Amino acid sequence: MPTRKASDSAANDLIPPRPTITSLKNAAAGCKACDLWEKGTQTVFGEGGRRARVMFVGEQPGNEEDLSGKPFVGPAGRLLDSALDEASIDRKQTYVTNVVKHFKWEPRGKRRIHKKPNATEIAACRPWLEAEIAVVKPDVIVALGATAAQALIGPQFRVTKQRGEFIDSTLAPYVMATVHPSSILRAPDDETRQLEYRLFVDDLKKLVRVIK
Ligand code: SF4
Repeated sequence: MPTRKASDSAANDLIPPRPTITSLKNAAAGCKACDLWEKGTQTVFGEGGRRARVMFVGEQPGNEEDLSGKPFVGPAGRLLDSALDEASIDRKQTYVTNVVKHFKWEPRGKRRIHKKPNATEIAACRPWLEAEIAVVKPDVIVALGATAAQALIGPQFRVTKQRGEFIDSTLAPYVMATVHPSSILRAPDDETRQLEYRLFVDDLKKLVRVIK
């Protein structure tokens, strides 16, 4: 049976003593704690400013992230950058990462289409996320989308109902969830996309009060 507990993950054995983000990233490059290492091009570890106070956690790297090895550099990352700018949050104050660090996809013609990671893969990758949180020590963690929110806050959490609310958590002084930027890009029409974007910026503006 595949493991579902983070404590059972083989990734635990790869966490270096006295880790830094650089040493974690180097160690994670060789991770084979779940089957996704065979699927993605490379491990896409988190990145951010050395004094990052806000950690954004998404679901998994996308196609562009998989190819470049950097998180949030594709269309969703560009939307996040734009929304951060509008919310007056300096990107240098942020660290971006994902619950799962390999791209999970399935073929559709010549394209690689995102496939949601399962509970076993999320649990296998959890030691990396916990190590990132321990090193960065962010004031605020923002889960982006349902997969990240349920992994970080709990399976009962509903982004549609509780987005933008600060939740009591042992992970950081402030924890919040909002939608994933990719869901805004998938809006059915321009008007909905604009509205969803405004709501996303409004959620990010709530962070300004706790990091300044
Ligand atoms: S997804 Fe995470 S646990 Fe699975 S191989 Fe990649 S880095 Fe390791």
